[in-house]
Formats: sequence, C-alpha cells, structure tokens
Amino acid sequence: MAILVDGFGRKFPYLRLSLTEACNFRCSYCLPDGYQANGRPVFLGIDEIRRLLRAFADLGMRKVRLTGGEPSLRKDLPDIIAVAAGTQGVQKVAMTTNGCLLLRNVRQWREAGLTALNVSVDSLDPQRFHAITGHDRFDEVIEGVELALGLGFDAVKLNAVLLRGRNDDELPAWMDYLRERDISIRFIELMRTGDNKAYFERHHVRAEVLEQQLQQAGWTLTPRAADAGPAREYAHPAYRGRIGIIAPYSKDFCAGCNRLRVTARGDLRLCLFGEFGIPLRPLLQSDDEHAVLMGRVATQLGLKAAGHGLHQGNSGITPHLASIGG
Ligand code: SAM
Repeated sequence: MAILVDGFGRKFPYLRLSLTEACNFRCSYCLPDGYQANGRPVFLGIDEIRRLLRAFADLGMRKVRLTGGEPSLRKDLPDIIAVAAGTQGVQKVAMTTNGCLLLRNVRQWREAGLTALNVSVDSLDPQRFHAITGHDRFDEVIEGVELALGLGFDAVKLNAVLLRGRNDDELPAWMDYLRERDISIRFIELMRTGDNKAYFERHHVRAEVLEQQLQQAGWTLTPRAADAGPAREYAHPAYRGRIGIIAPYSKDFCAGCNRLRVTARGDLRLCLFGEFGIPLRPLLQSDDEHAVLMGRVATQLGLKAAGHGLHQGNSGITPHLASIGG
C-alpha cells in the first residue's frame, strides 16, 4: 500500500475536498460582500469525485472532509457523501457547513454515510451571529445542531473564528453550553487571506490568549489522533463537551500538518496558503488514468513546503477561504 509522505516525513491520511466555491453567507472575515461568481463555474462532478477519492484512498487517505464554499448548496450532496463513504479505505466522512440546511437535510446526510459534522457558529449571541455572518439564522442553526446531536455521529463540532471586539469575550457562555452537551467547540484564530488585510489587523487576536484562560480554569490537553484536524483539544472533568484551539500562527502548527486539499475545480493544494495549485482534473475524466493520477499526487507531495508564509504576511494565492475550502 502506497502511503503519502512528504519530504519532511509528514503523512497525509486526511483530505479536505471543496465541493463548491459558492456560499450563501457573508461572513465578515471571509466573503463580506457575498459570493461573486466568476464566469460560469463548473465544479467537480460526481464521477470526477469518485475517481479522485479512489486515488487518494489508494494512497492511504482514510478521512475526507467535504467543505466549500458551502457544501450543502450542492443538490447532489447525498450522492457525494455516499460515494465518499463507499470508497474502499475511507473510514471517516466529515463535512464543514454553515448549518443553514441542517434542519432540513442532516438526517439524509447521516443516512448517506456522513460520520462527522462541523458547524460554524461564530457567536452564541443571535445578534452577534447576525452581524458576523450577515444572516439572522442563529436559532435555526442551533436547532439543527441539536437535531444532529441525536443522530449518532462520531463527532459533532462547532467552529468559531475568534474576533477581537466581536466574540472574544464568550468563553464563559461557551462553557455553559458545553457543560451537558457531548460536543466540541473549536476556536479558530483568524487567518490573514488576500482579501481581508484591514479586517485582520482590526480583529485578529492570538488563540494562545484563550488557551491560557482555559488552562487557568483547569482544562487539560488531550492526546491527538493521527488523522485529527489541527486543533489542540482540551477537556475538563466537570464538562461533557470539549474545547479545541486552532492556532495557525503557533510555532508547531505546520509540523503537525496531515492534510491535503483539493479545490472545487480539481486543483491539488499542498497548503492552505500555498503559491500554486496542481491541476488534477484532466486525470479525472476516465478510470484509465488511475495510476497516473496517483503518481501525480505522490510526486507533487515532494514539493510541499515545511510551513506557510503567514508570519511574513504572505497568504499565497488564497483570496479568502471560501475559494479553497477552509
Ligand atoms: N461554508 C462552510 C462553513 O461555514 O463552515 C465551510 C467553508 S468555511 C470557508 C470553513 C471554515 O473556515 C469556517 O469555520 C469559517 O469560519 C472558517 N474561516 C473562513 N475564513 C477564515 C479566516 N480568514 N480565518 C479563520 N477561519 C476562517
């Protein structure tokens, strides 16, 4: 069995696949003016996705996360989930969503084979949620989360991007929320992208600040699984839920990288903040290209850099995370 290993000895059991660049939310740090279609975008179809996942799985990928844009905007999402779940070797099928269609569709996704769910909830205060996302839909998103919690997912997690002056005082509220719920909240440090320079300078706050507050309140770090995401996860005996910290500017963030990305148009991206994409789409048109496709992915991995250039203010070719799948 081939295993994806880069020049620094890092292994890549985890693929993040973007299904669309389109998003219906207008998050202030990502798409404040909403999604603007560039021409007539044609995103990977189900047969292309099937071939892509088969090649990655044959290279050792075990976990796929469907993301976007907003993946739930894809009408064929249940079929895509089923293809992912049915790919030999794939053990976990996760999805990151803004939650807008949870209430309507989460049961169907679970039945199709989705095993884990991340829902972006940037604030527990409905008015703040509205101000950050551009949508007054806090109640229905949270109701969708409650529904998901009863469906037997391996994990339901919430994502909140930490924003100075907007939601960085909510730790006590989140702790109350987690006390009785088997759920994790991940606080993500705001990342600088091509489009959000001024916003970043105004609202960036180091995740370590929150991490210190957690440690002082008796939360302890839990061990990390090989295919786990980038969060440092904390637990506390008095709480059922957990708290994760995603700190892309911290020293060891890139050393623990175990993820590759493929955009909705079929470009392999070796890093969220890389300088180039590697087109895989031409090799997704026929089953006959399977071996060549595997070879291209394995060879390109040799070009993966040790780390991103965010510390130097270099966010690569990523204008916003909706363009690549955050
Ligand atoms: N639409 C889906 C959602 O809202 O979860 C999936 C795509 S979204 C790009 C994935 C995650 O990236 C979300 O949790 C979002 O809050 C986060 N995100 C977007 N831009 C970000 C940035 N500049 N810094 C940190 N996180 C960001």
